[in-house]
Amino acid sequence: MVKQAVSDAVLITEPGCMDDSDPTSLPYEIALKRIIASITSITDTETVIIDQALDRVLASDFIALMNVPPAANSAMDGYAVHSSDIPQTGTRQLTLVGKSLAGKPYTQSIARGACVRILTGAVLPEGTDTVIMQEHVMLTADTITIDARTIKGDNVRPIGEDCKRGEVLLRAGTLLTPASLGVIASMGVAEITVTRKLKIAVFMTGDELRSAGEKLAPGQIYDSNRYTLHGMLTRLGIEILDLGIICDDRQAIEQALITAASSADAIITSGGVSVGDADLVKELVEKLGNINFWKVAMKPGRPLTFGKIQNAWFFGLPGNPVSTMVTFYLFVQPALKRLMGQTPTDPVSLKVTCTTTLKKRPGRLEYQRGILTRNQNGELTVSKTGAQGSGILSSMAQANCLIVLPVENDGVMAGGSVEVVPFYGLV
Ligand code: AMP
Ligand code: MG
Repeated sequence: MVKQAVSDAVLITEPGCMDDSDPTSLPYEIALKRIIASITSITDTETVIIDQALDRVLASDFIALMNVPPAANSAMDGYAVHSSDIPQTGTRQLTLVGKSLAGKPYTQSIARGACVRILTGAVLPEGTDTVIMQEHVMLTADTITIDARTIKGDNVRPIGEDCKRGEVLLRAGTLLTPASLGVIASMGVAEITVTRKLKIAVFMTGDELRSAGEKLAPGQIYDSNRYTLHGMLTRLGIEILDLGIICDDRQAIEQALITAASSADAIITSGGVSVGDADLVKELVEKLGNINFWKVAMKPGRPLTFGKIQNAWFFGLPGNPVSTMVTFYLFVQPALKRLMGQTPTDPVSLKVTCTTTLKKRPGRLEYQRGILTRNQNGELTVSKTGAQGSGILSSMAQANCLIVLPVENDGVMAGGSVEVVPFYGLV
């Protein structure tokens, strides 16, 4: 009898982080939209030399000050001629009157029936409009013989072919890549105005945490989130205000939040945002500022808190090391890009065949760690890195992509198709 009563009993509890369906958790898309809708870009700018502008955000449209190339020039080593001298059929002999080299142009006008030797990048002399490849001529000491195969304008790079004076080359909000720095330099511009660097305060909470280099007492673990967070923030070109490890103490956390809010554009913390006794961060953010949301229906990373304290945005990331990284990439990175004025771009995602079976229960969007490779047929395939617990950081280090499993997905059999977001791409 008693046994029966126990097995029939149902405990009414709050959904925990292992529950797949939790009506109080926000869907990923809504959580991200709320963050993006709340944040507006900083407006402060600074002028930097272009050598130091890599990965900074352009503050205003960059307009071409000149034509590039500034004059028509040769795309080949050959002979510059006027197109009216090219025969319709048969061959014609032209007189060789000089040379135009890159940086050393031929300065006189070329009459009909004459031509000049020209090398790649050299300016076309006045009176010429076409370059004949050297492989297509017969050369004597002071003549060339050409045939009909070249047409007007061949092998010439016209003035302004790359950039036309007055056109917008790079829009405000552009992340300055090596290619964009090259474009700016091609205009002879040595300094550029970018949005100022963001300053982000970071601290990790947890009585159990020690820093690398210290000795561990029983029950303690090393703090890895400091290094993953610093790495991800450094890649975004952010100035970090490192407040270190803060123990699970109300006063200590409150003090750290006050210090952070008074000096940073945003605060990122790890740990202390779930519902345990030591999870004080959310409560203190509520006291000092306000919380927009604190739970997202995803795995890993449900207890993600977004709010604001004074003028500083607050991102409370879960302490589990994989959750910290995944929530940073999915929410904090786009938020900080917006804050620094960068025009948003969608992460590149691909549909590929999964070579391993993936377990999942419906109810939450799930990110698993994957290794994207090419099989013998040259097709991209993905396999999971192994166990997917949110504390298994080594699997994040092995991975080169995240496998995205939609909310209602209930697992994937080997050979099925999945969406992946690669960690790296060419920029
Ligand atoms: P919390 O979110 O504080 O409940 O922490 C969840 C789990 O992540 C616990 O097992 C913590 O020990 C672990 N954890 C929290 N912060 C860190 C950190 N900075 N580095 C490594 N593990 C952590
Ligand atoms: Mg903790």
